[in-house]
Amino acid sequence: MKNKLTITVSDINGTKHYEVHQAVKKFIIYFLLFIVLVVGGSFYLINFLMNEVETLEKKKELIAKEEAKLKEEKRILQEEIAKKTEEFENIRDKVEDIEELIGLKPSKDKGNIEQRIDLIKISSNERKLILNSIPQGFPVRGAHITSGFGWRIHPIFHTRKFHHGLDFGGRTGLPIRATADGIVTSAGFNRGGYGYVVKVMHNFGFETIYGHMTSNIKVKVGDFVKKGDIIGYLGNTGRSTGPHLHYEVRFIDRILNPINFVRWSIINFDEIFKKEDRVPWRSLVEAIKHQQDLFLRLQQAAHKQKGKASRQKQRSSHQARK
Ligand SMILES: [Zn+2]
Repeated sequence: MKNKLTITVSDINGTKHYEVHQAVKKFIIYFLLFIVLVVGGSFYLINFLMNEVETLEKKKELIAKEEAKLKEEKRILQEEIAKKTEEFENIRDKVEDIEELIGLKPSKDKGNIEQRIDLIKISSNERKLILNSIPQGFPVRGAHITSGFGWRIHPIFHTRKFHHGLDFGGRTGLPIRATADGIVTSAGFNRGGYGYVVKVMHNFGFETIYGHMTSNIKVKVGDFVKKGDIIGYLGNTGRSTGPHLHYEVRFIDRILNPINFVRWSIINFDEIFKKEDRVPWRSLVEAIKHQQDLFLRLQQAAHKQKGKASRQKQRSSHQARK
């Protein structure tokens, strides 16, 4: 009886006894235990998963918020970029206008019909006068071009800067000559970097500048110079890294590329009219022709006057002899 389990079931029909074997009893206990474990485990697992879902929901919410924040930041930055781009465009337009004004940029009206010049009608005398009046040829002989006109990395500042002139490297003491007739408007030391410098104002709005010369300047303010006159000597004064002449050619408020004027001669006379479009050549040539014309008429009138005077003298001496 020891290994037997008796289950008694009572109802209205009476009492029934069921005898259960000990092994079955063990099985039932283990089975119940198993069910309890499964139910408990499932409950725990469900609870855990529910918590996990909740945490993930919260994370999702946070990420969504973060995303919305980033989107807003992106929108603000895009607006900022659009604004800055517009500002930059405006500034660039202004810079271009300024560059055009001071001559760093070719004029928009390049190839203008006004620039066309009837070259056949320019006499050889007028050509000579033009070449004497407007800066032409080399300001120094025996030197070579070491730096051109335009953007470059500055030899001292090591930053990108616009070079307004033409540099001629050479031996200290080489004579520097005026490239056209004119009047000296500045002669002496310049603190701005030019060192000993001479500025010459020419006819028709042109100006030439000769920088970094030795202190032995040969002219003073107010002196009239002829084309080819020595004004000073090649040096290394001011902001300079070696003996050289810094040469500039200007027209009214415009800084021109001197190379077109340096290489200009009677042989390639008409080339400059095409190469340098910042000078109103047509009206300028007209003005020079007019000046030459006036000069010739004055000369003729003086000649006539002289002839008349000598004829009168002859006549009076003839009458006196009578
Ligand atoms: Zn220079």
